[in-house]
Amino acid sequence: MTPSRIRAQHVEGTTRVVGILGNPVDHSLSPRMHNAAYAALGLDYVYVPFRAAPDGIRGAIRAMRTLGIVGFNVTVPYKQDVVRLVDRVTATAAAIGAVNTIYREGDDGSEIVGENTDAEGFVAALRSHGAKTKGARVLVIGAGGSARAVLHALKTGGAKEVLLANRTASKAARLAKEFGAAAVPLAALEDEAVLSSRTLVVNCTPVGLKGGAYLGYDAAATPKDCIHFDLAYGRGLTPFLDLARIARRPLVDGRHMLVHQGAAAFRLFTGRKAPVAVMLEAVGVA
Ligand code: NAP
Repeated sequence: MTPSRIRAQHVEGTTRVVGILGNPVDHSLSPRMHNAAYAALGLDYVYVPFRAAPDGIRGAIRAMRTLGIVGFNVTVPYKQDVVRLVDRVTATAAAIGAVNTIYREGDDGSEIVGENTDAEGFVAALRSHGAKTKGARVLVIGAGGSARAVLHALKTGGAKEVLLANRTASKAARLAKEFGAAAVPLAALEDEAVLSSRTLVVNCTPVGLKGGAYLGYDAAATPKDCIHFDLAYGRGLTPFLDLARIARRPLVDGRHMLVHQGAAAFRLFTGRKAPVAVMLEAVGVA
């Protein structure tokens, strides 16, 4: 952010601290989104980025106790590492195998709990676009950490059929087995026989975000109302969503999921319902 765009943040001796742990964190929209939400509700909280080196992640969780930090969001590459560093994980985080939110529980707030709000964020973003997981016939592209949350949401949300395509086929096969999906080769992205029966296509890869094209994908082979959901996001349309836009298919921008997973984390940090409209505006998708 350029100096001219930096605004004064209200911080007092009473201000409670929440943060995001990751490496890198400088492009994260979470500080902007959460601070806008605190300001809108007049809450005495501040949300800050913490770039943690790999050998510092254990110390960062310890610092949550020693420094009285309210909680953390966790991003790449630590979502799986922190599972074993918290006092306990929720059933959802255990099923997904990753934590994206760490909060306190217990009368004195001394229990450090790991939760995963990505699946809830995915479902809420779909719902905000008038869509649902129940009965969906889905193609998921990618088999990394975020695909795990999406597969969990689809499994628990009653999707009818989930196909999973990934560059490394062995990873797709492993995840498909774990979440009751079927692995398909990456060539399925251009196979009309697969695409013509999809109701939802979800990109869980960062392909094209740093420039260059998306994978070979034939959006026009999907039905006209097939929803295209990109978890990856930038300031405007991603290369995957651009292909869907050209084919005139309905789109869901990953910033909607960012906001809804953040709203669930906000509730855990503050005990208050998140001002979702304010958060959407803060990340540029209002
Ligand atoms: P990850 O664990 O690193 O997984 C990345 C996936 O992308 C892997 O399946 C990988 O395939 C595939 N991939 C990477 N480069 C590729 C290429 N050049 N060609 C084909 N496949 C490629 O990442 P992640 O945590 O799942 O995150 C994926 C994206 O989702 C990121 O952009 C992240 O920021 C975004 N995300 C958004 C939200 C949200 O709230 N909107 C939440 C979570 C994540 P291999 O297995 O073959 O390596």
